Amino acid sequence: MSESPIRMFDYRAELPELRGSILAAVERVLDSGWLILGPEVDAFERSMAEALGGGHAVGVGNGTDALVVSLWARGIGRGDEVITVANTAVPTANAIVCSGATPVFCEIDPGTGLMDVQKVADLIGPKTKAVIPVHLYGNAVDIPRLLEIVSPYELFVVEDCAQAQGARLFGKSVGALGHAATFSFYPTKNLGAYGDGGLCFTRDEGLAEEMRRVRQYGFKERDFATGPGMNSRLDELQAAILREKLRLLDGYLGARRRLAAIYDAELPLHIERLSTTPGCEHAYHLYVVRTNDRDGTSALLAERGIESGVHYRRALHNMPAFAAARRPASGLAHTESHAARVISLPLHPTLTEEQVLRVCRVLRNHG
Ligand SMILES: *Cc1c(COP(=O)(O)O)cnc(C)c1O
Repeated sequence: MSESPIRMFDYRAELPELRGSILAAVERVLDSGWLILGPEVDAFERSMAEALGGGHAVGVGNGTDALVVSLWARGIGRGDEVITVANTAVPTANAIVCSGATPVFCEIDPGTGLMDVQKVADLIGPKTKAVIPVHLYGNAVDIPRLLEIVSPYELFVVEDCAQAQGARLFGKSVGALGHAATFSFYPTKNLGAYGDGGLCFTRDEGLAEEMRRVRQYGFKERDFATGPGMNSRLDELQAAILREKLRLLDGYLGARRRLAAIYDAELPLHIERLSTTPGCEHAYHLYVVRTNDRDGTSALLAERGIESGVHYRRALHNMPAFAAARRPASGLAHTESHAARVISLPLHPTLTEEQVLRVCRVLRNHG
């Protein structure tokens, strides 16, 4: 008898628990007479700000736009440089280029695979205006240390939290550590919409006002644009759905952490675990490990009906889209070795412990 396939992601597994509340939320919106930037978006923004310990949340169309909106809201664009990492998802760097600025790629820490914040200072030049640390896979970059390092330069620190909603560092939520933060509600993320969505967060009221202006045509008031703008709004239907799913987020995070602990304990030694930043409660958006035979490992899993992923196969500095980006003279050897060896094992809240043990068994029997 063949065993059932194990998928990387399937939102339908969550539906039985959610269907009633989601359909009620959709009906609430349809009957309300508001479809864009209305009471559902307001309420969702308030809940997100509260979850982040207080501040201002600004719903936008997706996580990429959230980064562009944040940069423009701070007046960052053409002629400026923004430091990030080259092992992040393409959209982090897309957003920098889209803003008009030039990406500068910082080397990663080989243990965590996250930005090596000690190396940021070496990259700061006269054009540097911002740093976008990325909390990849759900693990937190050491933002307090990064803020210390950049404090002499007055740089804008925007946390890319697209993969880390719910992670904490020394008890504080990621997103509440820097000057601003961005979130994505792409369906696979820890808090996934049934479509696209994103959000900017800041404790700075003036900056939040600029973010609201940028997300809607640069309008200071109706039909009066005072600066750069775009159209990137969160809609009422997605906001209403996100409000229902936000109530379940802590439970989902608990499940992710329990399953990740099983992988930690049960995977064979030839599968290299990444380190977690000291003081971090990991949000496990992805369970990423490294192996010298990544493609062989993924083929072996596929043969046994187990999906896997690679986040990400190519470092950004090797892509034509980012040929103009700056990188350290010493190169990005850790970034390249990481990209060559990472593999993501199935991890989502509806996976069972038995399924995770099955993945571990397949990998153990083929050391
Ligand atoms: C998903 C993701 C984004 C982009 O979010 P979208 O909503 O797809 O635009 C940005 N950064 C990281 C690290 C991501 O994983």
